[in-house]
Amino acid sequence: MYNILIVKYGEIGVKGKNRYLFENKLIRNIKNMLRPIGNFNVYKEYGRIYVDLEDYDYEEVIEEVRKVFGIVGVSPAIRAEKDYDKLKEVALKMLEEKIEDGVKTFKVDSRRGDKSFRLTSQEMSVDIGGYLLTKLDGKIGVDVRKPEVTVHCEYREFHTMVYCDSVPGYGGLPLGTNGKAMSLLSGGIDSPVASWMVAKRGVALELVHFHSYPFTNERSQEKVADLSKILAKYCGTLRLNKVNILEIQKAIAENCNESEATILSRRFMMRIANRLAEIRHCDALITGESIGQVASQTIQGLTCTNAVVDIPVFRPLIAMDKSDIIEVAEKIGTFETSIIPEEDCCTVFSPKKPTTKPRLDKIELSESKLDVEKLIQEAVDGVEVVEIEFE
Ligand code: ATP
Ligand code: MG
Repeated sequence: MYNILIVKYGEIGVKGKNRYLFENKLIRNIKNMLRPIGNFNVYKEYGRIYVDLEDYDYEEVIEEVRKVFGIVGVSPAIRAEKDYDKLKEVALKMLEEKIEDGVKTFKVDSRRGDKSFRLTSQEMSVDIGGYLLTKLDGKIGVDVRKPEVTVHCEYREFHTMVYCDSVPGYGGLPLGTNGKAMSLLSGGIDSPVASWMVAKRGVALELVHFHSYPFTNERSQEKVADLSKILAKYCGTLRLNKVNILEIQKAIAENCNESEATILSRRFMMRIANRLAEIRHCDALITGESIGQVASQTIQGLTCTNAVVDIPVFRPLIAMDKSDIIEVAEKIGTFETSIIPEEDCCTVFSPKKPTTKPRLDKIELSESKLDVEKLIQEAVDGVEVVEIEFE
């Protein structure tokens, strides 16, 4: 029945003269998102974005379109030739389907796009509402305050449009409109959620994962690649930088106090990520840290890991509870993969009793026993890059 999708976007509207740049980006992102299904006609008309459905299943297409950041809702609609009687027939057909689904009340909301038309928007609503009530005799009632369904009818310059439903999107801003950040992606629950949340604000991502191969196995790296693939559904092709930090962890284990091992290796991760960010033109880092979740995420722990970076570190989960983080992970589809038990480089060398209140001066003193610069450089030189394709 439906032949077109209406894409509604929110915050873009407030961007003044940059608006058209955002809209064009959004159109490109929608086309990219739909590429695995087919080549769609996505275009802008009168301040709206449309997707022609052709013969595709509308539910399948909406499911993809709504993942595009910047979209607040998607409505399946019927576009027809400019004929007022035809418009009423289409509205009737759509409302009949709603009645079959059990809907009991409705209202009509109209828009006259063609100012030369004899009826105003208000008059159109009254006229179409009356027509629908007569045709559907007793099967449905009008409720202008709290209708179960609103039939949107538009009489535009070159066509008419009717729609009822709106499937919510995730909001945010079109990807690529707010620079690029390097996200530290572990195999856990948190970091994929953190990555997704920042990407939702229009920030393009690049990923870095630290492993201790052969102490950690290949499957744990595949798990991270799988998580990256899920993120790529929202972000397009992603670059995953894999860095082996085994030598660093060995050096820490040999030279430093065991209780400080986690904080020390986290500082190395941050430094390496910072270095890669510079090389790859990323202006910020992203982590999945949340206050107090583990020993290294106390305020003192965060102070120590934060002290080695010179670009902003985005920690979108900082004040979120685990249950709320899991809720997002489920919504975006990373949870099932995140909970697969795999080895993690942090657990391999993790101390039995990690310090929860590390002091920066003490940590720096411990670290002075290591050739920090050499260890970082070797790790960075050994980076392995995987292009994560969006499927
Ligand atoms: P996650 O669920 O994201 O693994 P976590 O609760 O296990 O987080 P930590 O292990 O303390 O917390 O890690 C904090 C953050 O540091 C992670 O969210 C991630 O951004 C980064 N990080 C930790 N381990 C790695 C790793 N092996 N590779 C890349 N980043 C990592
Ligand atoms: Mg972890």
